[in-house]
Order: sequence, then structure tokens, then C-alpha cells
Amino acid sequence: ESLEPASKHQRIEYPKPDGVLTFDRLSSVFLSNTNHEEDQPIHLQLKNPELQKTSELDVYAGPSTRYCPAGVYEWVEKDGQDVYVINAQNCVHCKTCDIKDPNQNINWVPPQGGEGPVYPNM
Ligand code: SF4
Repeated sequence: ESLEPASKHQRIEYPKPDGVLTFDRLSSVFLSNTNHEEDQPIHLQLKNPELQKTSELDVYAGPSTRYCPAGVYEWVEKDGQDVYVINAQNCVHCKTCDIKDPNQNINWVPPQGGEGPVYPNM
């Protein structure tokens, strides 16, 4: 409910992490020791894959690539097409995507075998 179309806003250019006070996302994901078997059924499911392109990207400029703290979601160009990539193995189970997706199109389900981040060791 809080997201507005990207056309109503100016793009924010964030400074790169300095490695002192701010850190890149994948270094922080590494610290969580998150682990999912590579070939397990994906635990991040799209209800309607088309909607990610027509709305999440075209209207909202791909917010999942910014709000996900683990860099799970990427829009990459392949053969002139925008392709939505879900790196589910990096998920740290915060469930932000399940709540924040503007179309409620991402469904987080518990991963097979209870895999994921190892928070007790942090
Ligand atoms: S639950 Fe969603 S937002 Fe959170 S880390 Fe996993 S994919 Fe990213």
C-alpha cells in the first residue's frame, strides 16, 4: 500500500559501501551462513510470473532488487528481454518480499528441510 509508481519519483543514487560503516549485501549474507540445497523446490514462488514484468518492473522499477537484504532478486537482460532471476539459495528468511511486493505476487513458503540462515551462530 505504501509503494507508488516509479514515475512519481526520482531515482536515488546510493553511494557504494565503504567497507567501514557500510557493507555490500552479499558479504552480510555470507555472515548469516544461509544455506539451501541447490536443487530443492524453490521456496519463493510467483503467483503470476507475467505480473513481475508488467507491474513490478515496468510500473514500480523493480523494488525487490532494492528491498531484499540478501540480493535474492535481480532483473537481468538476456537476448534483449528483461528476465527476473530469483537467487533463492541466498534468502535469509526475513519475509519482506512476501509483504512488500506491490502486487502481493511473491509467496514465501518454508524451505525444504528447514534450511536457511544459521542465526544462532551469528
Ligand atoms: S524473505 Fe524475501 S526479501 Fe527476505 S531475504 Fe528472502 S527473498 Fe529476500
